[in-house]
Formats: sequence, C-alpha cells, structure tokens
Amino acid sequence: MVIESLFYFSLAVLQALEDGLKKADADPSVKAVMICGENGKFSAGADIRGFSAPQSHPGIGLAPIVSLIESSEKPVVAAIEGVALGGGLEVALGCHYRVAHVKARMGLPEVTIGLLPGAEGTQRLPRLIGVPAALDMITTGKHIPATEALKLGLVDEIAEENTIEAAIRLANKVIGQPLAPRRLSLKPVPTLPNMEAFLREALVKVKKQARGCLAPELCVQAVRAASERPFAEGLRRERELFRLLLSSGQARALQYAFFAERAVRRWATPAGASWSSANAQPVRSAAVIGLGTMGRGIVTSLVKANIPVVALEQDLENLKKGRKAVMLLLEREAMKMEGGAQRLDFHNPARLQFTVDFDLLRDVDLVIEAVFENMALKKEIFHKLSKICKPGALLCTNTSALNINEIASATSRPQQVIGTHFFSPAHVMRLLEIIYGSHTSPSAIATAMQLAKALNKIGVVVGNCFGFVGNRMMFPYVQQAVFLLEEGSRPEAVDEVLEDFGFKIGPFRMSDLAGLDVGWRSRQGQGLTGPSLPAGTPARQRHGQRYSPLPDLLCEHGRFGQKTGHGWYLYEKAGGRTATPDPWLHNFLARYRDTHGIKARAIDQEEILERCLFALINEGFAILAEGIASGPEHLDVIYINGYGWPRHRGGPMFYASTVGLPRVLAKLEQYSEVHPDVPGLRPNAFLRKLVAVGSPPLQEWMSYVSWQSPKL
Ligand code: NAD
Repeated sequence: MVIESLFYFSLAVLQALEDGLKKADADPSVKAVMICGENGKFSAGADIRGFSAPQSHPGIGLAPIVSLIESSEKPVVAAIEGVALGGGLEVALGCHYRVAHVKARMGLPEVTIGLLPGAEGTQRLPRLIGVPAALDMITTGKHIPATEALKLGLVDEIAEENTIEAAIRLANKVIGQPLAPRRLSLKPVPTLPNMEAFLREALVKVKKQARGCLAPELCVQAVRAASERPFAEGLRRERELFRLLLSSGQARALQYAFFAERAVRRWATPAGASWSSANAQPVRSAAVIGLGTMGRGIVTSLVKANIPVVALEQDLENLKKGRKAVMLLLEREAMKMEGGAQRLDFHNPARLQFTVDFDLLRDVDLVIEAVFENMALKKEIFHKLSKICKPGALLCTNTSALNINEIASATSRPQQVIGTHFFSPAHVMRLLEIIYGSHTSPSAIATAMQLAKALNKIGVVVGNCFGFVGNRMMFPYVQQAVFLLEEGSRPEAVDEVLEDFGFKIGPFRMSDLAGLDVGWRSRQGQGLTGPSLPAGTPARQRHGQRYSPLPDLLCEHGRFGQKTGHGWYLYEKAGGRTATPDPWLHNFLARYRDTHGIKARAIDQEEILERCLFALINEGFAILAEGIASGPEHLDVIYINGYGWPRHRGGPMFYASTVGLPRVLAKLEQYSEVHPDVPGLRPNAFLRKLVAVGSPPLQEWMSYVSWQSPKL
C-alpha cells in the first residue's frame, strides 16, 4: 500500500497518515507499506508559519504517528525524494527501511528556529547513526546529501532513477522478515569508549559557537538522554526540553528572524518603486575595481556564483598583490566545494581576468568599485566608468558611508548608480546592503537584489544617508562604549557584557580587528580631528556635543589595533589575534581622566548594556521615521547578518519590542538627563510616538510613520 503525504505536515496530513496506517494494518491483503511525498518531495516537516501558538505545534502531534509507523506489523518503507527535513525525516526514522533518491537531502533543521526535533528524532537518530553523527546533524541543522546519508547508515539504499519503484522492490523483498531489528526504539545507542568526555566537549563546543543560544545546548542534552536512558525515558526528556524551548523567547526570536529574512525580499522605496513592479537586468559579467580587503572577497564571491569577472587595480604592483590574494581565496573556497577548482574554473581567463586597463570594462553588465574610501577618488572613477561602460551597465560602489548621490553626480547616468555595501570578509558575510540614491532606477535596485541572490547573500534595500543603516546605527553604539571608558570602565568589561549578550565580538575587539585608523581617517576627513580642527576647539566637544578624542589619541600613539599589535588591547605581535587586557591602556585611561577632571565611577553591567544597545536602537527609530528603511525587519536582518547581532535575540528592533518600548524610552530619558550633551541618548520622536499610542506590535510600527509608506 502506498501512503502519499503532503509536503508540509498539518493536523489534516497527520490524520491522513494515521488513517492510512490503520487501514493498511487492518487489511490482510496489504503486505507492506510505502510512504512517499507528493510531487517528488518527501516532506519538509511542519510548516513553521503555524508555530506561533505552542499548543498547536505540529511537532507535538507527530510523535504518536512516528511510533505508530514503527510499531506497524507490516514493513514500512520510506521513499525519500526531494527533501526529508525536520518532521519529514522523523517520519522516515519511524519507518523500517529508507530508500532515498541520489539527489535527495535530509536534515533536522529545528535548531535553526530555536527548537529540537520533537517527534522522537533526538532519540531515534543516535540509535541509527551513532552519537557523533547524530549530534552533528541535530545541533547544526545542516542538510546532508543522500550519498552522505548512505555512508552514515541513515538510508538503506540510494535510487539513481525511480525511488518509488526502488522502495517497492525493497518492500517486496523484506516481506516476512522480522521487524524488531528494524525498530529503532528497540536498538541500543552505539557506545563510544569515551562517551562522557565526548558529550561534555560537544556541550562546550555548542556553547562557544552560539553564546547564550539555548537550542543547540538542549539538543545536546536530548542526545545525552538517548545515550544514557531507556527509549521511553529519553522521550520524556525530549518532550520536556522541547517544551522548554517552545516557551522560551528564543524560539520566537529565531522564527521572527527566519521570516524577516524573507520579508526583506519584498523591498519598496518611499517614492513607490517596489519588488513587485521592477524588473532586474541580467548580470552575465562583472568587474571589480580595487583588489584590497573588500575587492578580493567580492571577486571571490562573483567567481563562486559563476559570473565571469574582470578584476582591475590601479597599477601592476597592486594588481600582482591582489591577484595573489584572490587566487589564494579561490583555492581555499575550491577545496571546500564538491568538484573543487574545476567547478570554479578560475584559472580560465574567460572566467577571471586581471588587468590595469579600464578599456576591458567596456562590455561588462555590472561594475563594483571597491577603492579607498575617498570621495574625490570615487568620483574620478565613476566619471571614467560613465564614459567607458556600455549604456546599460550597472555602476555599484562599495562605499561604507559616502553619499551615493554625490558619487552618481560624476556620471551621466545616475539612474544606474547604486551602493552595494558588502561586509568583510566579502566572500563569507551574507549581508549585502543595497543603497539607492535619489536617481537610482527601480530596475537598478531589482538588479542589485538579483545579484545578492546570485551571490547567495541577503540583500536589504535602504535609503541614502551617512553610514546607511548598519554603520549609522553602529556609530552611537561605539560612541557609548568609548564614553563608558571615559567615565570609568575598561574595554574588556564593556566587551564582556556585549559578548555575554551574544555579540560575536564586543565593540573594542571589533575596532581592533577592523583597524582604528579607518575611523581616524574618516574623522580627519570630517574635520573632527587632525590638522583641520580649528585651534581652540575643546578636547571633548565638537559642534556643541560631547566628543571623545580617545580613539584619535590611540591612533596618534600608533595603536591601530591587531595590525600594529596594540589598540584597545595588547596582541602577541603585529597581526596577532589574541587580545589581552593592556596595563598601558589602563594607565593611559587613568591619566586621561585626570587631565580632564573626570572622576572614575564603577559602572555596572546593566548600564553598559543599556547605554550601548538603546543608543543603537534609538538610531534605528530615527532611520524608520525618516523612511531610510521600509520596516524594522530590515534593520534586524542587517544586524543579524552583518554585525554579529545574536540571532536568537531577533535583531535590535525585535529586541526593543521584547524589552518593551516604554522601558527603552524610560531608560533613554534617564541616561539622557545625566548626559544632556549626547544626542544619541535623546529619545527619538518616533519611539515616543509609538509609546504614546500604546506600544503596538512591531509589525504595526510603520503605520505610525508620518510619511506614507507604500504598502508592502
Ligand atoms: P583597501 O585599502 O584594502 O583596498 C583598496 C584598493 O583599491 C587597494 O588595493 C588600491 O590599490 C585600490 N585602488 C585605489 N585606487 C585605485 C584606482 N584608481 N583604480 C583601481 N584600484 C585602486 O580598502 P578596502 O578595505 O577594501 O575598502 C574598499 C572600499 O570598501 C572602501 O570604500 C571602504 O569604505 C569599503 N568597505 C570596507 C570594509 C572593510 O571592512 N574594509 C567594509 C565595507 C566596505
């Protein structure tokens, strides 16, 4: 008998599965059962759109069905085509045999949305493939190809062609054979000589990888239960841990992040351009100008996406350096891929060409400029591009903060100029901030979004302002961190609080990594420090606002961070990565406070966290009110994918909604009163408005913005 089930499990699908199984058991003419999916796809498990109400969670209803399958007196064979994910794989684990199509993929991705496989998967999988492989799948949520599943023993057979026929053949072959050895619940978990140490290490590893994130940790606990307890007890533990996760705010935050990443695909601008009406131009070839830190990663990313690239530098010496760096990156990437160098084909000049000749950019569909952050230089390059490139070519700049309109003004085609802000390392980081200027055409935006997709990145469309969204929100955050040092804290204390919150690295470790000189040059350019600063400017004030010269002073001492071996921390050598607290810096801070008559005070963790995060969030409200982003989800996706914001906290704006807007407002008011010369702490009017109207849910915020946002 064949039981066909729908791609996503719903209560109706579960009922149909149960009915089918009972019918098969009761019918003496049925000798074996095969479960397959509809239209060539086994099942992606439960539809997480229904996850908001814990009691109706489909995972909870699935477990008895999986047991029912396993206890069937007739052999049940799963025919896995397409994907078997989450509950889908758990159903397959309940079956006595599994046949998968060679192109099928399998996985238990629950951990990525803050849960664990709650339909007995944490107990059956280790029994089938052993603790190490099961832990790897359950704690990472990765999808594995059928060939790997066969090696692990997760499937019994692979079908090159017709999976259903292969499954039926297998079912016919096993009719009459004893089923007990095929019932995973009856099997012991394969032992390891050092199981206890292995589990302990696994726990340490997941805790380190996702600081503060509950799901991977609880997944380890569930698998531990499988290895230590009888099946029924292990199940009780799995259920207990599942409920704990379901009721934690983290699952909600992770599911919000999942949907936010989909929501940002539907971009819109205040002028009315939107994803639904704009058409992308094909990108069949590209060029990258500047092969420094960013350019080399961007070239790598394009080659990986199979887009032929012309890579250009300013002179032969830099070209040689850039080429070497790109080749190294590509070789490393090729090693990670199936098919390796051959697949990437980067030694073929038709796929990747290095040059110093702008004329070679004549025919490319898109150019990405990644030269020094200098307006005059960027304008010179765009002027050249405007003359050389073919009429339809999209001209992109990777600037971190400069005005897109001004760059576009150097061309005769501002409608084709757009910001594509990659993050470092550009071939790894998933975020692509896409910045439209006043003249950028809807088609240019759509093309940049299409490019993001081709590069396997998440494109977020934002408006043009200094620092765009990500860096603009980062400025007040870093500013607060430095002010906290002035007032009595230390870099390691501030970093620790933010790392405990879940950031991959705190603000001081981050600036040491990025290089303190980058910001220094930018501030010199803005006239905030350096020779252009008017004589008599107070050391700790600019334009009537509080300013901290601390980062400038460090640069004046040659402390640029990791690259010079010291910055906010001390490193083992120039280019070293291990940060240790630096007594020199502590003395320096003490002298600085003395010079400026600042009395150091003890600053508690709550104040560190709130001042840094709430200043960042406050800027987020300003960005929303100005129409720079279409919604809070956009800000959150940018922060999760570009700035190491802990995903399990759902992004800064989601976090603000969980803290409660009245509390965020009250705290900002309190800090602002103590620091009236710090505009970043002054509550934004939009935040005030939202609190005044009763703090509506995040999804409704944009309806309170004064400018009329086009309906997404
Ligand atoms: P970089 O100094 O590492 O590299 C710049 C490269 O541009 C150098 O190799 C230089 O030789 C080349 N170049 C300069 N003038 C040129 C010209 N006329 N023609 C061709 N090549 C030329 O700089 P970077 O860190 O890669 O930054 C590049 C851009 O990306 C900047 O606008 C920066 O603000 C932005 N950005 C940097 C980061 C980062 O983390 N480094 C992140 C996002 C965006």
